[in-house]
Amino acid sequence: MSDCLFCKIIEGSIPSTKVYEDEKIYSFKDINPQAPVHVLVVPKEHICCANAIDESNADNVAYIFTKIPAIAKSLGLTNGYRIINNCGDDGCQTVKHIHFHILGGTKLSENMG
Ligand code: 5GP
Ligand code: ZN
Repeated sequence: MSDCLFCKIIEGSIPSTKVYEDEKIYSFKDINPQAPVHVLVVPKEHICCANAIDESNADNVAYIFTKIPAIAKSLGLTNGYRIINNCGDDGCQTVKHIHFHILGGTKLSENMG
C-alpha cells in the first residue's frame, strides 16, 4: 500500500536497520526501543492487523512464527523474550500493517496491561 509506513520500509524507500529478510517477511529495529532489544517482524504482504487474518493470509503470519526463534537467537535472546501484537485502537496499534514486536535483553515487566 502506497501510504503505509511499513510497506515503504519493506520496499526500502524509508530506511531501517534490517535484522532479517527473506521473500515473505522483513524484520528491523524499532525506532523507539522499549527494551534493550526491540525489533519488529512484518509480513511483506500488507495485512492491516490481527483482525484481518483469515484463511487467505494466515500462512504469512504462521511463517513469521517459524522464523522468530532464529531471529531471537541472532539477537542474543538466549534467556527468553516477549512477542507482542497490538491490534486496533484499544490495543494502541499505531501502524496499520500487522507487526510483531520482539522485546528482550533484560527481565521484562510482569505487567501486560
Ligand atoms: P504499534 O504501536 O503499532 O504496535 O507499534 C509501532 C511501532 O513502530 C512502534 O514501536 C514505533 O516505535 C515503531 N515505528 C514507528 N515508526 C517507525 C519508523 O519509521 N521506523 C522504525 N524502525 N520503527 C518505527
Ligand atoms: Zn503495509
